[in-house]
Amino acid sequence: MPKKDRNDQEGPDIRSNLVKINVDGDTIFVDANQYRPQVRKAKRDLRMKKLPKNPQPQEWKSEDYSLHKVADYKPFNFVDGEGVRCSLYVSGCLFDCPGCYNLAAQNFNYGQPYTQELEDKIIEDMSQSYVQGLTLLGGEPFLNTWVCLKIINRVRKEFGHSKDIWSWSGYTWNELQKETPDKKEMLSKIDILVDGRFLEAKKDLTLQFRGSSNQRIIDVPKSLKAGKVVIWDKLER
Ligand code: SF4
Repeated sequence: MPKKDRNDQEGPDIRSNLVKINVDGDTIFVDANQYRPQVRKAKRDLRMKKLPKNPQPQEWKSEDYSLHKVADYKPFNFVDGEGVRCSLYVSGCLFDCPGCYNLAAQNFNYGQPYTQELEDKIIEDMSQSYVQGLTLLGGEPFLNTWVCLKIINRVRKEFGHSKDIWSWSGYTWNELQKETPDKKEMLSKIDILVDGRFLEAKKDLTLQFRGSSNQRIIDVPKSLKAGKVVIWDKLER
C-alpha cells in the first residue's frame, strides 16, 4: 500500500473529515462529525451472549452463603406485585444474570443485618388495612431462607392468610422441586412465585411484574395441589 494511503495512527482512520470504518468486512467512509463508536451496543451484544449461572440441584445452600442481611425495605409500594405491598430486598444472589436490575444486592454482605426491630416495623406497616401483602425479592430470597422464613412465619402468625406473600426467584419452579428442605419449606408457605433468571435476550419491559418473557407468575398453592405449574389467574401480559 502506498505510504500516503496507510493509516499509521491508532483507532479509526480519520482523513478529510471522513472516518474509515469496517462494517461486517466492508470498508465504508462516514462523516467524522456523525461517527460514534458503538460501544454501548457492543456491550449490550456481549451481555446478550452471556448467560446466567445454572447451579446443580442443591449445589447452593442458603446456610453456606447468607449473611442474614437486607439490601432495602420499601413499605407501601405499588410495583412489587398486586395491590399495596411491603417489600423486603434480601442481600446476595449467585445467578449473575447479565443485565441484573439490582447488581449491588448480588453481594451477600451488602446492606444491613435483618433485625427484630425491622421485623416489628414490617409487621406494623403491614397491619394497615390497605396493605395487601409482603413481597420478598433481592438478591435471591431462596438463598436467604433464614430471613425469609422468619418474616413469612411472623406474617402468618399475625395475619394468617388475610395478607398474601409474593416472592421473586432466579430459580425456576422445576429447579425448586429438587432443592433443599428449607427452600421447599419456603415455597410451600408463599402464595405467588415469580420464577426464573432474567434473560437479556428475552427482555420485555411491557410484561406485568417481570423483566423477561421466560419468567412466570405462578400461583403456588394451586401448583402444589395440581403437581404442575398453574399460572396466576389475574395475569394480563
Ligand atoms: S436472579 Fe435476580 S437478583 Fe439474581 S442476578 Fe438474576 S436478576 Fe439479579
